[in-house]
Amino acid sequence: MNALLIANWKMHYGPIKAGGWVRAFRRERLPKDVDIAVAVPHVSLAAARASLGRASIPSLAAQDVFWDKDGSFTGEVSASMLDEFGVQYCLVGHSERRTYLNETSEMVAKKAAALQEAGIVPVICVGETAAEYKKKETNKILRQQTTAAIAKLNPDSKTAFVFAYEPIWAIGSGKPCPSQRAREAHEVIRGVIAKKMGETVAAKVRILYGGSVDSNNITEYITTTGIDGALVGGASLDPRVFGLLCRTAVPS
Ligand code: PEP
Repeated sequence: MNALLIANWKMHYGPIKAGGWVRAFRRERLPKDVDIAVAVPHVSLAAARASLGRASIPSLAAQDVFWDKDGSFTGEVSASMLDEFGVQYCLVGHSERRTYLNETSEMVAKKAAALQEAGIVPVICVGETAAEYKKKETNKILRQQTTAAIAKLNPDSKTAFVFAYEPIWAIGSGKPCPSQRAREAHEVIRGVIAKKMGETVAAKVRILYGGSVDSNNITEYITTTGIDGALVGGASLDPRVFGLLCRTAVPS
C-alpha cells in the first residue's frame, strides 16, 4: 500500500494561482511509490485540471461535496460534478467545516457515502479539540466520529475510503501531535472500522495524520506504524516546499 500525501490548500489560490502551483509542482523531482494529491478550491478545479493535462501526478482532490446528486441546493456541488474534473479524492468533515459551518457527523456520513457511490475516495477528517485532548477524551471522540462517518459506507464497494486524524489543536499551530499519540489515535480509528466492517476492510484503509506536518517531521510520521501518509495544509502552499516534503517522506 503506497503512502498517500495530500496537499490541502484550504481557501487559497483561485484559478490563476492554482495553474501556476500545478505547473511548478510538476517541475519538482517526485518520488515514485507514493500517491500524491492536491485538494483545491472548487473554483480552481478546472485550472488545475488544465495545467495537469494528461499527467496523473498529483491527483486532483476537492475539499468538500454535497450529498445529493442534483436539485435545489444553491451554492452546492455534487460528487458527479467533481467527477467531471477527474477528481479522485475529496475531503469531508474537515474540522474547519465542522467548526465554522456546523457540519455534523450525519452530514459527513452522507457526503462520504455520496462520494463512494460516485467512485471518488472520501478522505474523512476526524479529531479532537484542545479541551477534549486535555480532558483525555480523544479516544471517545474518535470512536464517535468514526462510527458516525462510516455508517452509510458500503464495505464491499470497489471505491476505498481514507481517514485523516487531525487533532484540531495541532492544525496550523506549529505544535504537531507526538507521533506515538497519533499512532494510538490511528489504532482507535482502525479498531472501530474493524469492529463495524471487519478486519480485512480495516487493514486496507489508509489513515493519514494531519496537523503541522512539514519536511522536518514527515519522516517521523511516515515511519510510525499505522500512519499511512499525511494531510498537509500550510506546508503545501509553496509547490517547492511540498515537493521537498514528498521527497523527504519517500526518499528514492
Ligand atoms: C489541515 O488543515 O488539514 C492541516 C493539516 O493544516 P496544517 O498542516 O497547516 O496544520
